[in-house]
Amino acid sequence: MEAQSNIPLWRYTTLKIGGEAGSFCQPESIDELVQLMEKLKKQDQPWFVLGGGSNLLVSSAGVKGTVIRTAQMKRMENPEPNIIEADAGARLPHLARFAAAKGLSGFEFSVGIPGTVGGGVIMNAGAHGSCMSNLIETVTIFDTEKAEIVTLRNEEIGFVYRRCNLDPSKHVVLSARFRLTDERPDVIEANIKHNEEYRWKTQPLGWPNAGSTFKNPEPTRSAGSLLDQAGAKQLKEGNAAVSAVHANFVINMGGATSDEVTNLLKHMQESVYQKFDVRLHPEWKIVGDFTKTEREVFES
Ligand SMILES: Cc1cc2nc3c(=O)[nH]c(=O)nc-3n(C[C@H](O)[C@H](O)[C@H](O)COP(=O)(O)OP(=O)(O)OC[C@H]3O[C@@H](n4cnc5c(N)ncnc54)[C@H](O)[C@@H]3O)c2cc1C
Repeated sequence: MEAQSNIPLWRYTTLKIGGEAGSFCQPESIDELVQLMEKLKKQDQPWFVLGGGSNLLVSSAGVKGTVIRTAQMKRMENPEPNIIEADAGARLPHLARFAAAKGLSGFEFSVGIPGTVGGGVIMNAGAHGSCMSNLIETVTIFDTEKAEIVTLRNEEIGFVYRRCNLDPSKHVVLSARFRLTDERPDVIEANIKHNEEYRWKTQPLGWPNAGSTFKNPEPTRSAGSLLDQAGAKQLKEGNAAVSAVHANFVINMGGATSDEVTNLLKHMQESVYQKFDVRLHPEWKIVGDFTKTEREVFES
């Protein structure tokens, strides 16, 4: 596997923002990924694992160290009844389609989530009343501190709303094993169609975006609704704006930079804090050069 340089990361994020990576690698198998991690550990080099780049703000100033993109590791298998195994780079919408083709239900929620298995595990991605942790039996990781491959059971991973106790700066997700239920293909297809149509109606899918910007402060209190009531849809900073379709979505209108987005997030937080006395915490992760003040926006 060859390391590339001068690769602009905006190409690999759904928000289409991000400067160059110090070095850029795309392993095609778990073996290649593990060998790379062992090498980087030996050389004490900084690294970052990028999945679909769909929950991420990458600094326009770029990222020092090695960025490892897993998208080429897309193995999906149905090795026994009701079980699907997938490598870290498999896309969640592809997994939904793969499962549907096998008559297996459970992944319909993920059909509109443009992330990978690795990012989906780290974020415990979810929608339409379900989430990754409802399906996960085990996750296999490379623990970079111990330099070993470990398989963890669901209950060892500490899944909660949009997070788990795996730390992406130490734990690299290699693959996961999911348990699904049998269902009639037409029922699964109808669920998928319903979920897709709902997204096209409620999300600004024609613009580069990174999904929901802030977490819901409570299960029954939506960040989008608080932002809408606080007038956030009027907010704009340079070429970054709050979507008129969904107040919890930030869109890149063309050429937006990471500092414009960070400033916009600060204004969004302030608008909700002033009206409701509620502090919203971003769902996104950040990577690359950000100032201390910019980082504070992302602290939760
Ligand atoms: C249009 C749109 C709709 C969305 N809808 C939803 C939704 O309904 N529900 C939802 O939960 N999310 C949603 N998202 C957000 C996003 O798709 C999910 O959070 C997804 O799980 C992120 O996966 P990713 O592979 O893109 O991760 P990335 O954005 O690439 O990375 C996110 C984090 O995961 C880490 N990571 C990625 N892969 C690995 C790995 N193999 N090992 C260790 N760490 C890793 C990264 O280092 C980073 O810290 C949406 C996004 C978009 C753009």
